[in-house]
Amino acid sequence: MSLASAWAREDLDALSARGLRRYLEPLDSPQGPVVRVGGETLVNFSSNDYLGLAGSPSVRAAAIAALERYGTGTGASRLVVGDTTAHHRLEARLAAFERAEAVLLFNSGYAANTGIVPALVGPGDAVFSDALNHASLVDGCRLSRARVVVYPHADVEALTRALADTPARRKLVVTDTVFSMDGDVAPLREIVEACEAHGAALMVDEAHATGVLGARGAGLCEELGLEARVDLRMGTLSKALGGMGAYVATSRAVADLLVSRARPFVFSTALPAALCAAAEAAVDVVEGDPDLRARLWRNIRRFAAGLRELGLHAEARSAVFPVILGEPGRALDAARRLREAGVLVKAIRPPTVPEGTSRLRFCLSAAHTVGHVDLALDALRRVGVHHG
Ligand code: PMP
Repeated sequence: MSLASAWAREDLDALSARGLRRYLEPLDSPQGPVVRVGGETLVNFSSNDYLGLAGSPSVRAAAIAALERYGTGTGASRLVVGDTTAHHRLEARLAAFERAEAVLLFNSGYAANTGIVPALVGPGDAVFSDALNHASLVDGCRLSRARVVVYPHADVEALTRALADTPARRKLVVTDTVFSMDGDVAPLREIVEACEAHGAALMVDEAHATGVLGARGAGLCEELGLEARVDLRMGTLSKALGGMGAYVATSRAVADLLVSRARPFVFSTALPAALCAAAEAAVDVVEGDPDLRARLWRNIRRFAAGLRELGLHAEARSAVFPVILGEPGRALDAARRLREAGVLVKAIRPPTVPEGTSRLRFCLSAAHTVGHVDLALDALRRVGVHHG
């Protein structure tokens, strides 16, 4: 056995002993409200495809047309020869959607967050990060080599104190708008005010808000009318937009700097043009078909009301609902029993969530029928899942 294999076996055994080893499980169907997995047909409550656009005919048709025109790969980073007119069209479409001066694409949300933060701040600067921010923002902060100040979740008073007490050349605040594992929403208006009062720039991650929140589906900044007061608004193409990739809506100057300095942008092969065309079509659907978002919200409200009837805490604030069970084994056991009832919902365990808060994370979609939502609620009732 090689040395690396010995290390791996030792670590895998340790993970297994704590119920934290993970396994892959391939789908044998498109993404959607009902999927085929392991020979079973299950109602899917673990996908971030909030509007059901991953399988939408118009989005697929746009991707196929671009595939025919541009081929599969882009052959190089955008700065070399991987840039296509499809990338520029999508950036212009997203800039109109986000009402932003400029938009720059990234290959994923992970690449965006790990690239943007180090491009803006470094040694001598300070970055202030919510304790429950997504791992990609956490890693972006670490990579920046700026001083990282983690403030307690959604605690604007603590953030304000930290901003006042931390000497730094530049100050940048980073926060998710919808928190990915809890589905709650950042107190964004207060955060904007704290940043303005203390001379800090603000970057938000709208990954779970794009397509879900706001009258036009542009996210929490749009819902609260704060677009012009947030320096950088990052969104993903991989969730409600049904594809892959990410973008940042910002000023021309910031976008120009990122082109020269954000390492995942500079050093990684460009997103395939077919994915750009798919995302452009998806934005058209998000803006042009508000009924889709209305269907999502009908499902969100129904599910939240059902959880409350089961005695569980639930706020209808996003498409994400955690059912917190505590130890990993409890969450795994509940997921297994729900699956026997036809419901696919994955157990989320540390390090994705803090120790002692392993959970089932339900994601609602506009593509779920009322019957699907009721199936999940009924299965929870029969399995006897309740808080604590
Ligand atoms: N930010 C948040 C809040 C997320 O939940 C995720 C993905 N789970 C990402 C960023 C990363 O996005 P992507 O999957 O496109 O890399």
